[in-house]
Amino acid sequence: MPELPEVEITARLIGAAVAGARVESSLAPGVNALKTYDPPLSALDGRTFTGVRRRGKLFVASVEDDLALVIHLMSAGRLQLFDTRASLRDKASRLLVRLDDGRELRLREFGTKQRAWVKLLRAKDVESEETIAALGPDAWPDPPPLEELLDAPRPLYALLRDQHVLAGIGRSWVDEILHTAMISPFKRGSDLEPDEAERLREAIVERLGGVIEHYEHAITLPIPDKVPMPLTVHRHNGKPCPRCGDQIEAVFYEDYVMCYCPTCQTDGKLMKDRRLSRLLK
Ligand SMILES: [Zn+2]
Repeated sequence: MPELPEVEITARLIGAAVAGARVESSLAPGVNALKTYDPPLSALDGRTFTGVRRRGKLFVASVEDDLALVIHLMSAGRLQLFDTRASLRDKASRLLVRLDDGRELRLREFGTKQRAWVKLLRAKDVESEETIAALGPDAWPDPPPLEELLDAPRPLYALLRDQHVLAGIGRSWVDEILHTAMISPFKRGSDLEPDEAERLREAIVERLGGVIEHYEHAITLPIPDKVPMPLTVHRHNGKPCPRCGDQIEAVFYEDYVMCYCPTCQTDGKLMKDRRLSRLLK
């Protein structure tokens, strides 16, 4: 599941590769992947890409100075650039932008759900696009002080992933960040001490920045379907904690798993497994 670092490296690599490239034609084969109709997709024909940037977990691909494609991968989408054109039988295709040098920018989505989306907007309308306008400040590179931002009676594992609060962090990196900060995922934002808020902010900047730097060396075009994420806590339940060597524990929710180290983060306390406790009711 792409989060801020994966979207950032994709935006950097694809942005550098398509800048100056001209669009020949575009096609949106997915059902409802294209969420706008004015301007039409054909407005891209003959126009030149000027760059790709990231906002939260979204891409904004600029076309000259008046148009932009806003792309949201949701949980299973991928933005990729290929040297050749897709087979029209590729069921994962949601948007195909054919460049006049033969390459193709492709939004693909894996799995059965079609949730990834694209909007073609006038550049002046990007910031007021509803998803972008509702985003909190970016988690990286320079998030605001967290004490006030996270002052809500909600557990940190949920608060930090709330894109309206802070943009860019998802299920994988939240576990890593809280582990780095040595703070319980169940601690409420409003209970954060000033020094914890500062430690958490540092952990966010350090972890996200560190993994982007790692990707700068590890990832090249074409972006693989599955970016190998250097995780050490998330989905590492049962394995030793990279800091203290004790066992990483997990709490299973309906559609995801949260991992933490009891020794490093919860004073040794084991958190209830919601899945198990529901079964025992
Ligand atoms: Zn530990």
